Amino acid sequence: MRAIKQIIIHHSASPQSMPLDNAVALFDRVHKQRLHPTSNWYWLHIAYHYVVSANGDYKKTRPIKEIGYHAGVRKVNIESVWICLVWNFEIETPTTAQYNTVKKLIRELQSLWDIEVLWHKNVKATACPGKNFDFRKLEEELYTQEEKKVAIQDIIKSNSELWDKVEKTKKYITGKDTMDLIDNVQHSLSELNKYLRTRWF
Ligand SMILES: [Zn+2]
Repeated sequence: MRAIKQIIIHHSASPQSMPLDNAVALFDRVHKQRLHPTSNWYWLHIAYHYVVSANGDYKKTRPIKEIGYHAGVRKVNIESVWICLVWNFEIETPTTAQYNTVKKLIRELQSLWDIEVLWHKNVKATACPGKNFDFRKLEEELYTQEEKKVAIQDIIKSNSELWDKVEKTKKYITGKDTMDLIDNVQHSLSELNKYLRTRWF
């Protein structure tokens, strides 16, 4: 299995919202035409791993193990999973159902791999997925406040444990440079925990 590092959000820039099956069939046809038939076998069908229509329906259109291709940057293609939202978000606005489905897909993928979410414009000079796609809203609503708090609490606990562990190993350490570095790390851990407690609790 390839190493997945990113989920990339893309819009189809289609002038109309289309039913899911029509959109998938159209992309499949267009992508097949665009690609050279002697390319590797896995290139020969729809480039996206998921397609999400305006009513929130979605289809898994490409196995994750197959590299997608749309970034225009090969390194990115190799490491990413593509989610294509049907419609043109330079003009239209994604529907709540569409946001909800994308969130569900991202959560599923993030439960399997440690991956970040990007939009197409993060990896290539393009307007995709359009100015009306609200990336901040997506990011903020991806996990509930409660889920975020549990994760933050876990970080705080790990930081404290690491602080204690470092403290206990100090007696074995010699050399001012090393000790200074260790003090700095401990200071940073304390500061981070202080910040997280203030910000979240
Ligand atoms: Zn795109």
